Amino acid sequence: MPPSDEGGGTAQAVTEGEITMNCEILCVGTELLLGNTVNTNAAELSDLLSGLGINVFWHTVVGDNPGRLAEAVAIARGRADLIITTGGLGPTYDDLTKNVLAESFGRKMEYHPEEAEFLKAWFARNTSVKFTDNNMQQAYLPERCTVLHNDWGTAPGCAFEEGGVHVIMLPGPPNECIPMFRHRAVPYLKRLTGEVIFSRQIRVFGIGESAVEDMLRREMEHMANPSLATYAKFGEVMLRATAKAPTEEQAEAMCQPVVEHVCQLLGDKVYGVDVDSLEALVLSLMKERGLTFAAAESLTGGLISQRFTALPGASAVYKSGAVTYCNECKAAMLGIDLAAIEEKGAVSYETAAAMAQGVRACTGADLAVSATGLAGPDGDGVHPVGTVFVGLADGENVWVRELKLGTGRSRVRQLAANNAFDMLRRYLQGLPIVNK
Ligand code: ATP
Ligand code: MG
Repeated sequence: MPPSDEGGGTAQAVTEGEITMNCEILCVGTELLLGNTVNTNAAELSDLLSGLGINVFWHTVVGDNPGRLAEAVAIARGRADLIITTGGLGPTYDDLTKNVLAESFGRKMEYHPEEAEFLKAWFARNTSVKFTDNNMQQAYLPERCTVLHNDWGTAPGCAFEEGGVHVIMLPGPPNECIPMFRHRAVPYLKRLTGEVIFSRQIRVFGIGESAVEDMLRREMEHMANPSLATYAKFGEVMLRATAKAPTEEQAEAMCQPVVEHVCQLLGDKVYGVDVDSLEALVLSLMKERGLTFAAAESLTGGLISQRFTALPGASAVYKSGAVTYCNECKAAMLGIDLAAIEEKGAVSYETAAAMAQGVRACTGADLAVSATGLAGPDGDGVHPVGTVFVGLADGENVWVRELKLGTGRSRVRQLAANNAFDMLRRYLQGLPIVNK
């Protein structure tokens, strides 16, 4: 089997018998081409498919135009074994995906009375949405398909196979498309392969993707089942171990030694397995210990607080955050000596330490972090752009990381926030905080 050339390189493709399944995601909607809507479905589906070990080789976007959609389908079926469409399943005149796909694959449309009943019952419950006759279009699907019932909206999806090509159609709204994929398409795909695909995600911070790959490349190249692949984003590396086996227990057991090996090799750079993010881990560790948290932010402008409070349940831990940009506000709001800030500079070890201690003292939080630095593009004439100091204070000690994060305003801010969460998680896990 050829190695995947996208999505992390070493993921093994799902096979149906001896056939490798290579996938094309075909998103339908003029709003995607106009730039009104960001194509999040393609990104999320790709991520989920790579977790299943399926190669995604193409993303195509086509407007609500039957001719161009038919052309795109002809191209896709010539090169992919699995075509997943999103969008255009609804009741309006521009929702033409089902009809075009049915025609392309030589199928008539077929009425599904059970879907019609579901639609009638849905409109009876949702009386604020006016029922119009065109809604019944949604009960028609290409003949001889597997109906993918939609419990998150009204338009059902469907799946069928023709000439060795599998087609799965999903609705456009992401809050329908993604659960439909997880709960309807994944079981369908699993039935096709007759195997269970299981994967574990190893989350790593404090070491670059190239360094991780360097340590693991030789092994990864020779791994097929289980396989191991790396993915990188904002200073984080995610490794995904994937195994296929007749049962979930067997696939899980096959992943386990890979996970243990990677954890041993990367040591405390691994912050968690199957955790969502650094901040999610910090939240759960702080909750367990009954600790509270506050943040004083300069260059991150509230990003640390925003990311933390985006997590459900943050209120049990998060006390407050201060965005203190100018020196006078750092002094006044955090109770820091203005002369000391001016003497050492806003971007300094001392100011980061004082900000963390200051916000901790004035909020009464158990732990506090701070971030001050130069996100760029302009420097301060003293430090290079990307110089950042991140602080952490508890009741007794204060730690400061001095970082050189390079350029890219948004990137530097995200990395600064990641470092704040990494310092917290190291504190909570009893690991060295500054000397990474
Ligand atoms: P509906 O029943 O809501 O009409 P549909 O399956 O017909 O669903 P579309 O009409 O194509 O889907 O899209 C509905 C909305 O879903 C779009 O306005 C857009 O906001 C969102 N959407 C569609 N495709 C995507 C996509 N690829 N990524 C993100 N959002 C999308
Ligand atoms: Mg629609």
